[in-house]
Amino acid sequence: MAIKYLKADALPALLEALAKNARVVAPFKRDGVVQFEPWQSGKDVELDVLLAKQSPKEWVFPQCETYLKFGYRMEEPAQGATAGTATGAEGEAIGGEGAAAVAAGAEPAIPHETVEVEALNEAPAQVIFGLRPCDARGFVQMDQVFGGYGGFYFDPLYNSRRAVTTLLAVTCRDPRSTCFCTALGGCPAGQEGVDALFTQVEGGFVVEPLTEKGEAVVGTAGGDLGDATEAQAAEANAVKAEATGKVDVPFALEGIRDHLHDNIDDPGWHDLCMRCISCGTCTYVCPNCYCFSINDELVESEGERYRVWDNCFNPLYTEETSGHNPRAQKSNRFRNRFSHKFWYYPDKYDSLLCTGCGRCIMHCPTRIDIREVLRIMGAAPGAAAERAATTAVTPAATGAPTGAPAPTDGKEA
Ligand code: SF4
Ligand code: SF4
Repeated sequence: MAIKYLKADALPALLEALAKNARVVAPFKRDGVVQFEPWQSGKDVELDVLLAKQSPKEWVFPQCETYLKFGYRMEEPAQGATAGTATGAEGEAIGGEGAAAVAAGAEPAIPHETVEVEALNEAPAQVIFGLRPCDARGFVQMDQVFGGYGGFYFDPLYNSRRAVTTLLAVTCRDPRSTCFCTALGGCPAGQEGVDALFTQVEGGFVVEPLTEKGEAVVGTAGGDLGDATEAQAAEANAVKAEATGKVDVPFALEGIRDHLHDNIDDPGWHDLCMRCISCGTCTYVCPNCYCFSINDELVESEGERYRVWDNCFNPLYTEETSGHNPRAQKSNRFRNRFSHKFWYYPDKYDSLLCTGCGRCIMHCPTRIDIREVLRIMGAAPGAAAERAATTAVTPAATGAPTGAPAPTDGKEA
């Protein structure tokens, strides 16, 4: 597909043209916080801040969504229906002395309660502009889950929105000290899940359409998008190479899955989780954490069923109705988050459940660093203890306390 060039001052016109046929969502700064919001004419897209606080996943997988409305009604008996006159399936009379027997499928001859259900699923066409390649890759990782493990658990809510969403990613020019996408097979100009990639160069963007949806965007822009010159394409390549070279590689991925498995009972999990306050922030900001719970709200006879993001640090997350909780201790829940991303999910889907965006590192209120956890618990048994005594991942950059957490001899936090 031909590589294009868009002048920076033509971007609002492109977004405006796209907004005629779809909801356009982009990063904007409001009250000092960058977040994805619907685009409006006159608002400036924020591309200087590398990552919005929240990933754009909520535009496909909302934090809270009502998907059923239901109501209970009392129905009067159907006209002509009488009690005590029905027969069983084989023609013999059913019901005891004085009982009101009712044939299968017949209306009972007494007032009875029925439930009316209305399914809801809003999926407007939408374009997400300004997400980073790690966020687009996060959608691909969620696709595997909501796609239903071969279709068996296919999720119509997520998939109907995903099908009408176009992802226009912007290359990361200046990765943060918390980024580690390259350690996980990604890169600042990664293309996985991206429909068109925009790379900022002198005076504008080099635009690479990568899918049919990306081509459609190029078609929408019309004359504002011309063919990129060789010099512009070369500049874009230089931006990508320089950015890739800036990304920290904090650990070698090889062996982590097996070592997490081998370290499952290691007391190091207790030590590492001491600082965690189970707030769940790391899961909410993550572009691929997908757990949710389902609740009903009923007011008198009208109700709604909704699903809402859940998080595996929540003590109630795995509690069963019997009261038994297979992850009763905080260290069990803490271990689950990292093991899920680098062991259980890879075993099931043959890929990772992390893109190395670093949001969980930036926003954890107690500065727990996934790179530190993986360097310690993803090391060979024996080496884990040694590393715990010496590892402190870029404390100056993250603001984390220096050194490893104080050992607790396995005492539960
Ligand atoms: S686990 Fe952390 S670094 Fe990995 S994708 Fe989620 S927020 Fe980003
Ligand atoms: S953000 Fe930090 S403190 Fe909060 S649950 Fe995650 S690891 Fe624990």
